[in-house]
Amino acid sequence: MLPQEQEQEQELCPERQNPCHDYALSRNDDMPVLLIGIDDTDSKYGMCTTYIAVLLVKTLSKYGKVALPILMRLNPTIPYKTRGNGAVALIVSTEKEKEVKELVLQTVAENAELKAEGTEPGVVFVRCHELRSYAERRLARFSAAAVRHVLSVENAEKTLAKLPAECSAFKKKGRGLIGALAATGFFFLGCCGDERLLDKTYELIAYRHEERWGTPRDIDDASVFLADRLTYPLTWDTVDQSLRRVICAPHSPCPILFGIRGDDVAAIRKAYEVIRSEPVKMAQLFVTNQGTDAHLIEAKISDVENYHSYILKGVVSRDPIVTKGGHVFFSLSDFDGTAAIDCAAYEPTKGFRSVVRKLRVGDVIAAYGSVKNYTLNLEKIEVLKLKTHVVKKNPKCDICGRTMESAGMNKGYRCVACKTYAASPMLAVERRDIDEGFYEVTPSARRHLSKPLIRFPSKIKVHPSR
Ligand code: ATP
Repeated sequence: MLPQEQEQEQELCPERQNPCHDYALSRNDDMPVLLIGIDDTDSKYGMCTTYIAVLLVKTLSKYGKVALPILMRLNPTIPYKTRGNGAVALIVSTEKEKEVKELVLQTVAENAELKAEGTEPGVVFVRCHELRSYAERRLARFSAAAVRHVLSVENAEKTLAKLPAECSAFKKKGRGLIGALAATGFFFLGCCGDERLLDKTYELIAYRHEERWGTPRDIDDASVFLADRLTYPLTWDTVDQSLRRVICAPHSPCPILFGIRGDDVAAIRKAYEVIRSEPVKMAQLFVTNQGTDAHLIEAKISDVENYHSYILKGVVSRDPIVTKGGHVFFSLSDFDGTAAIDCAAYEPTKGFRSVVRKLRVGDVIAAYGSVKNYTLNLEKIEVLKLKTHVVKKNPKCDICGRTMESAGMNKGYRCVACKTYAASPMLAVERRDIDEGFYEVTPSARRHLSKPLIRFPSKIKVHPSR
């Protein structure tokens, strides 16, 4: 176990069923509880909001109990995100609210990429013990909307005004307030009564020493494959087996060395211990909504909007085509044929494209993915019903049983060896080299929020990419 986690683990055990347990536990203590949300501290040149959260987990412990930090992924289509649209939240039970706030603001000011254009840090403090149930629901609705919709800073400010909360925006626009507030609502998402919003997973993130930031990461690939072999499917998206590639380490100049994702904390720790790499500065477990499909909205094709992610049921209305670059496109229509949308399996989704290519007009599917430019960028599909297609084939020779050849345009078919003739083609049911059930993109192309098929309940028919 990592030293800084020992105390936190008593606060939040993965096997606990109630997602608000951590918060409820603290509230029953009669100790004031402060929820701290932080977002938009990084740029493409460096830093990571999770890194600032880990610095704070360490330093805030002198003022009270700090629970397992939250890494919440928000709407993945937001154009101004740096990478994965992640925000963090900390839960601190403390009587030293003033000191805690000062330390948080100072740590953000010292570490955020304030000079970078587009970096707009936001910090939110919510006095959790003062939240009434209507305010909890309000906060939960805001959080859910931040995962699925496009919000404004004004939306955040309006919600904040109804809460026992304060906020700090470090630069003019204050855009980071959206993510910061959303992350404080993580443990209230259960109020929304939506299974996908309730689901939780974990990620253990290892960080690099500062002098190595921006240099190539030194990680022993073989040890990562071994870690995966020993712990998959309790951990996932550590490697991409089909591409033989390590995918748990970023390529950006950020402080992250690698992150192990999964459902089982013991398995995640085991994987972590097996991996050999450059020295780790610090490591921290986060509770997350990664791999949960929380971003998906069940909708009709006619209601689709850009910058949202959907589950769309419909009928394939145009056979797949492969374009330059290896991208595969087909059209999906509503059942009444009134609306249609293009669906795309882009080149990075790799083997998934060969499944998508097998779809035919008339197949009933559910398409999962994000919409940009009114095109659904596929994350997975569920094949619900395959259409039976009758195809014309060259007939078989009655004598030798071999396939006859064409005798010329509109001249029927013949068997040269047996001298037999047939006027019309044979009608046959097309053999479909695809089955009903779920199919997904290769792990290296998976969005943070997208749920891997190995996480689906066993009664559901899945064809995992691995
Ligand atoms: P990292 O993952 O490395 O922390 P990032 O990809 O999370 O970076 P940010 O730098 O945090 O990107 O930028 C995302 C910005 O989008 C933040 O300012 C955040 O408040 C805002 N944001 C997040 N969700 C929404 C949303 N649903 N609607 C509008 N703005 C949002």
